[in-house]
Order: sequence, then C-alpha cells, then structure tokens
Amino acid sequence: MLDDTIAAISTPLGEGGIGIVRLSGSDAIPIAEKLFSSPKNKKLSGSESHTLTYGFIHDPLTNTTVDEVLVSIMKAPNTYTKEDVVEINCHGGLLPLRKTLELVLRNGARLAEPGEFTKRAFLNGRIDLSQAEAVIDLIRAKTDESREAALEQLSGGLSEKIVGLRERIASLCAHIEAYIDFPDEEIEPASMESIRNELHSIIDALMLLSKSFEEGRFFREGLKVVIVGRPNVGKSSLLNALLNRDRAIVTEIPGTTRDVLEEYLNISGLPVRIMDTAGIRETHEMAEKEGVIRSLRAIGDADLVIGIIDGTNALHEEDFVVLGKIKEKKSIVALNKSDLPAAEDGLEKSLAPYSETILRISAKTGAGLDLLKEAIIDVGIGHPIKASGERNPIGQLEGSDGVIVTNLRHKVAIDNAFNALNNASAAIQSSLPLEIVAMEMRDGLDRVGEVVGAVTTEDILNRIFSEFCIGK
Ligand code: GDP
Repeated sequence: MLDDTIAAISTPLGEGGIGIVRLSGSDAIPIAEKLFSSPKNKKLSGSESHTLTYGFIHDPLTNTTVDEVLVSIMKAPNTYTKEDVVEINCHGGLLPLRKTLELVLRNGARLAEPGEFTKRAFLNGRIDLSQAEAVIDLIRAKTDESREAALEQLSGGLSEKIVGLRERIASLCAHIEAYIDFPDEEIEPASMESIRNELHSIIDALMLLSKSFEEGRFFREGLKVVIVGRPNVGKSSLLNALLNRDRAIVTEIPGTTRDVLEEYLNISGLPVRIMDTAGIRETHEMAEKEGVIRSLRAIGDADLVIGIIDGTNALHEEDFVVLGKIKEKKSIVALNKSDLPAAEDGLEKSLAPYSETILRISAKTGAGLDLLKEAIIDVGIGHPIKASGERNPIGQLEGSDGVIVTNLRHKVAIDNAFNALNNASAAIQSSLPLEIVAMEMRDGLDRVGEVVGAVTTEDILNRIFSEFCIGK
C-alpha cells in the first residue's frame, strides 16, 4: 500500500492567498513533472531537494494552462512522510486547486485518505503514534497551554519517557524469563529484591504519568471551584474579594444570589473557574428553586467545593445541609467573618468530620484569603505548584518531569499497564509461579507500547487517523 503515490488539497477549501496540492510517494516528482513547465525550462527532477521552482501547471490532454504556481520539491528521506514530497502552491481558489488535483490524480496519484500523510510519517518510522496524535492536537489547540502541550508531545517528550519505561519492563521480563528457562537456577533473594524494587519504581512512574492527565486537564480547562453556603454567610463577598471587584451583588437580604456566577481567577498560573451558587436551602420561590437545582449540579461537577459558614453564628440546620453535600468532594470549609467575634469556640472541631481543611477568613478585611488561595491549589490538585520562573506552569507540577499526558487513549493504555504490573507485583508477593509474573509483565509491556504504537491493530490506526482532515 505504501508503494503508491498519494495526493490531496492540503489547505482549507475556500478563497485564500495560496492553496496547496500535496503529493507523497515515489512517483510524486515524475507525476508533477508531467504537468509542469518552467519559463526557463527547469526540470523538477533535476531540482535540488528542498527548493522552490516557478512555473505553470498544464493539462497535457488539452494543452491548456491551469494555474501559475510555485512547486516545492522535497526528496526522501528528510520530508514529512519520509517519502518524496511535492507541494504545488496554486492560487488559493477552489477551481485552480481542484483542477490541479484532478490532473495529478489522472496522472498516477491516488486521492489520500484523511490523515494519510501523517499515517505514512508514522508507518515509515519518522514519528511514533503519540507524535502523530500530537499533530492533530496541535491543529485543534484552543489555548496556549494545549498548544504547548501538543508541541511537547510532538517533539517526542512523551515518546522518550514511554520508550524508556518499555526498555526497563522488557529487561525485567528477560530477567524473569531467564529463570523460567533455567528452572534449576534458584533466584537469589537479593536478586528477587532488586526485581521487586525496579518493578515498583516503574509502577510509580506509570502512576505519575496517569496523574499528569488530570493535572493537564486542570491547566487546560481550569480547576472548577464552587462556593456554597446558606444565604448571607458571605459567598458573594468572598467571590468579590478573590476577584478584587464587585461582580456579584452583595445584599443583606437572604437569597439574592439567584444564579450561578462564574469567574476566572489566576492562582500561581493555574486557571481557577470559580462559581458562586445560589444559597442552598429549601425554597418555594420559583427563581430561587431553579438556582438551588443549579447549585447542586455545580457541586456535582466541581473539582473542589468551598463551603462557607458564618463564624459569628452557631451552626445552623441549613449549614449541615451544605456540609452534607460537600462531604464526598474535595473540599475546604471557610469560617467567614473572622473580623467579628466568633459565635462559639471549637467550631472547627464540629466541622472536622466534613472536611480536612478548615480555615478562618474574612471576606470583608481579606484576612486569611492568601491561605485560602494556597489551599485551593493544595486541595484542588493534590499538592503545591513548584515555584518556577517559567511562564507556562504546565510541567512544573511535582514529579511530572515536564511530561504531561493529554490524550485519553494514552491514559487508558498507561492505566492498563499500571494494573498489569501491579498484578505482577502481587504475583511475586504471593510467590505464584514465575510464569504468571512474566505473563503480567508482558501484558504491561504491550499496554505501554500502545501509547507509541509499538503494538497496534489496523483498527486502532484507522480510528486515530480518520480524525484528521484530508491532506494532513
Ligand atoms: P451571600 O448571600 O452568601 O452571597 O452573602 P453576601 O456576600 O451577600 O454577604 C451577606 C452579608 O454579610 C453582607 O452584608 C456582607 O457585607 C456581610 N459579610 C460578608 N462577609 C463578611 C465578613 O467577612 N465580615 C463581615 N463583618 N461581614 C461580612
């Protein structure tokens, strides 16, 4: 299949300055040559690699000129596909492009399938599967952070990590299998110990990679934080204090925050999507009821919930409704109005069963807000962000080593490998036969290999590349 020459229009259809018909394969240059003429009679086949030649595309059958073009010649192997690549830069209109493509197809090229150029780059070994997938992530990136993560993946950051892990697992497998092949050899306890240590170190590395997926998501999409509490405890005041401006309406009449307000806050480079919800309480008024339903939904979706309690009042029945809702989530309980005398001592103690993090703050004076911001990061993503001079915080997370998993397919493969190696470890622990240990390790090896495409089925490849546009 790889011995034919493929072609497609590689630029978006529509009017533009230029449009490109791209060819890849061993006949790319001869096919273009048949259609091309240069005023100085330059031959494409005689051109140096990576040069541009000016001329015209002709229809050899009718002997008419189709377009005035610049043709780039890129000879294998230093090209996008590792094959000979020709790009015909036409004027950017539908007809010149269509007509040129038609001629190319009539003269021996085949219309490329979606993503087929990138698929060839993969099949010819220029990039691995995770890098091929990064191409589409890069094309689709919506934020600077996702663009940078895609670029990092394209440059092989993840691949390198995965290849390193595969080598380590393979060497462990070889070790274990050697003992299986020579059953007379006893494994020395020290040797077994080092196998176990290496296995655990690989398992830890896989876990970090898997965790980076969640963290990558926080940096791409923002950490979703919801502020909840019964009316008048200071939810809107807190939101305003965090944002330093008057976004939510603050009033003394309970139940005035009827909707869910959403704002972006930047804490140490982490985008935090912070939501103030309508006070949670039983209500019969329509607008408020709708607000309550939305609050509950917002809590369900949140990465972190901040429950606000008015520290100047004894705990209220409605406070317990709120506390009940956040018990199952990552949470912070903020005792607000610390500028006023506290209602009772030991409030923290009564709240301890509901949240691990309880802070006293004042939305009015700003006391405790810095600690609250720190806690939002610590509790929300599970650890502090490393101090760094770099602008982009991606990869600055503890232990992530700069590599972030952003693709769900990769995360699933890594999790499967993690499970297989955990099984191997459990098998060693229970002194099960080494054949079982080896089998689980082999499975882990295959699963890790799926990330870079060392182990793939035609089916997986088709699914991945069909996501691409034609011409890429
Ligand atoms: P929400 O209904 O929970 O959104 O509460 P609001 O933010 O509207 O605040 C209700 C009332 O409490 C307002 O009068 C605020 O000025 C007041 N308030 C909020 N936070 C504080 C605080 O930290 N200290 C004091 N003294 N008053 C506060």
